[in-house]
Amino acid sequence: MQNFPSVFESIKDLEKGHIDGLLKLAGKFKGYSHDWQGLPIPFIKRPIIATSFLENSTRTKHSFAIAIKNLGATYIDFNADTSSLKKGESLEETLRTLHSQGVDMCIIRSNISRELAQFKEKPPIKIINGGDGTHQHPTQALLDLFTMTEIGLDLEGKTISIIGDTIHSRVGHSLLDLLPQFGAKVILCGPSECLPPSQEMKEYPHVEMTTNIDEVIDRSDLLYLLRIQKERHSGNQVNYYESYPNDYGISVERLKRHNKHLPVFHPGPANVGVEITRDLIESPYYFGYEQVHNSIFMRMAIIQAVLQNSDKRLGIQFAGRTIQDLA
Ligand code: ASP
Repeated sequence: MQNFPSVFESIKDLEKGHIDGLLKLAGKFKGYSHDWQGLPIPFIKRPIIATSFLENSTRTKHSFAIAIKNLGATYIDFNADTSSLKKGESLEETLRTLHSQGVDMCIIRSNISRELAQFKEKPPIKIINGGDGTHQHPTQALLDLFTMTEIGLDLEGKTISIIGDTIHSRVGHSLLDLLPQFGAKVILCGPSECLPPSQEMKEYPHVEMTTNIDEVIDRSDLLYLLRIQKERHSGNQVNYYESYPNDYGISVERLKRHNKHLPVFHPGPANVGVEITRDLIESPYYFGYEQVHNSIFMRMAIIQAVLQNSDKRLGIQFAGRTIQDLA
C-alpha cells in the first residue's frame, strides 16, 4: 500500500485507498483462518514486533500478539513496569533502543492523548497506536468497519448511533473520523455530560448529537455502545451512573419495545447491567464476539501494511560508523 504511515497514530493518517486496501487484505487473511500454515509468509525477513502497553488491556494486546504470530513474525512483550521507563528514560529513547536491537515495530498503548504524534516526523521505529488516552483507537475502528462489512451492512446512507461516554472514548473519536467516509450518518447519544462540546463537533458537520435515546433507537441501523469510563472522570465521580441503565442501557426488551431488529456492537470491556444487559449479550443482536474475532484479521492487515512501507527516516543510522568518521 503506497505511502502507508510508519507511525499509524490516527484514522486521519490514512487515505481512503489505504482503508479499502486494509478491508481487502483483512478479508484475504480471514480466508486462511482455518489453516494458518497455508498462509504465504508475507515477509522476506522475519520481523520482530514488540507490544508496549502502558495502560490495561485484554482484547487489544492479545489480538495484536495473535496477529503477529499468525504472520510468522517474532513477538516480544515489552513490559513497561520492569523497563528503564520506570527509571525515567523517555519513550523516545526506549524506542530507539528497541530499534537498535533489531525490533522493527512497536505497538504502543499510552494513557497520554497524542503522545505518539511527536514521532511522526522522525520515527524512532515503526509504530501502531494501540489506543492513546481519549484521543484515538484507530485499529479498533477499522476492525469495527471490517465487521460491519462482513455482516453485510453497506454503510452508504445508514445511521450508526454511538451511545455512551463518547467524550472520553478514543474508540468513539476514531469511529467519527472513519464511518462518515463510507457514507454513514453518525449520531452521538448519551447524557449531556457524555457528549463532546458543540465547538469540537464543528469538524464533523454530518454528525448529530442528542440525549433522546428513544428517537435514536428508532432511527438507527446499528447501535454502537460505549462503556462509561469511570477511570477518566476526575475523582471517579459519575453522577448519572446510577440512572444510566434505566435511561440509556440497551436490553432485548428495549429493542422489542421499538420493534427494532438491529445489530448491537461494543468494543469491550462491557459493563453488564449498565450500558448493556446480559440477555442482550446472549441474544442474536449482539456482535461483540464477531468484533473480537475479526480483530485478528484486521490487525494482521495493518501490521503488514505498516511493515511493508520503506521509510528512510527510520531509527538511528549507526551501521558501519567508525572512529575515523569523527575526525
Ligand atoms: N477497549 C476500548 C479502549 O481501549 C474501550 C474501553 O476501554 O471502554 O478504548
